[in-house]
Amino acid sequence: MAATLLDGAVIAQRVYAQLKERIQRLHVRGVQPGLAVILIGENSASRIYLKNKAQACEVVGVHSEILRFPADCSEDEVVRRLQALNANPRLHGILVQLPLPAHLNSERILQGIAPAKDVDGFNWVNLGAMVAGHTLLAPCTPLGVMTILDYAQVPIEGRNAVVIGRSAIVGKPLALMLIARGATVSVCSSKTADLRQYTSMADILAVAVGRPGLVDGSMIKPGAVVIDVGINRLPDGKLVGDVDFASASQVASRITPVPGGVGRMTVAMLLENTVTAAERSVGIGANYPAQ
Ligand code: NAP
Repeated sequence: MAATLLDGAVIAQRVYAQLKERIQRLHVRGVQPGLAVILIGENSASRIYLKNKAQACEVVGVHSEILRFPADCSEDEVVRRLQALNANPRLHGILVQLPLPAHLNSERILQGIAPAKDVDGFNWVNLGAMVAGHTLLAPCTPLGVMTILDYAQVPIEGRNAVVIGRSAIVGKPLALMLIARGATVSVCSSKTADLRQYTSMADILAVAVGRPGLVDGSMIKPGAVVIDVGINRLPDGKLVGDVDFASASQVASRITPVPGGVGRMTVAMLLENTVTAAERSVGIGANYPAQ
């Protein structure tokens, strides 16, 4: 039986419709959500990501601005600009487009974004909150995975979830979110001795590695929900995930495609985080503990 497709584009449209309503309510209070994107140097991938983000902002009604720095700018220059953006009440979200030029310390720059405006969710305050079981601003990609699971009404509590990949921006926060929802979670990495042993028991299998074909249908539990986070460009220019879609879709019950799956959700979640940050700025929703 062929799996049902979990279509990120369709789910993202539903997210945008909800965001438009939340933005309308903010307008009544005189607030337009604002997002600042810092771009240091330039590469073709960043240009595409920025175009997608700017288009999505326009569609839902988020004000966005791009601040460009030359590739040879200094860390201090960027941190000073971040301090000004942190203090600007018109901007509710700030993100720094990665990757950064090699001479810059990305950790110092990312930690320079105020936690309340950290719409990429990479600040240690936001990541730490997740360890304590709270979601303030969560990293966009794992948040997108959780949103896909919820839209598809995939039961999470009590299920075996396996996350392959343990990066700080995808695998680890995704594992924390699944734990918070009552899944029994295993996290695999390049050090895992027998990947198949884990994948074959997963009711929910999320793969975030960056290796085409790492998981094929023979490794998947029949009926599993498979979320392919990986994005890989093959030598022929084709974009594929980490899961061999042809064989996996014969075994899984539901599966995300690449492209058109999790990637579409990541931008949608960036806007959701920006709207959430704007709502918090006027006292709507859970807020950060007072310092
Ligand atoms: P990353 O920082 O390079 O982490 C990759 C993880 O995969 C590491 O934890 C690594 O283990 C693990 N790994 C490597 N080889 C493995 C193997 N043979 N078996 C099991 N685990 C293995 O990458 P990332 O930033 O998390 O991104 C992962 C993938 O998701 C990439 O393809 C990236 O392009 C994609 N991505 C997609 C989106 C989206 O919007 N769809 C967003 C972000 C990332 P170790 O820790 O042991 O090295």
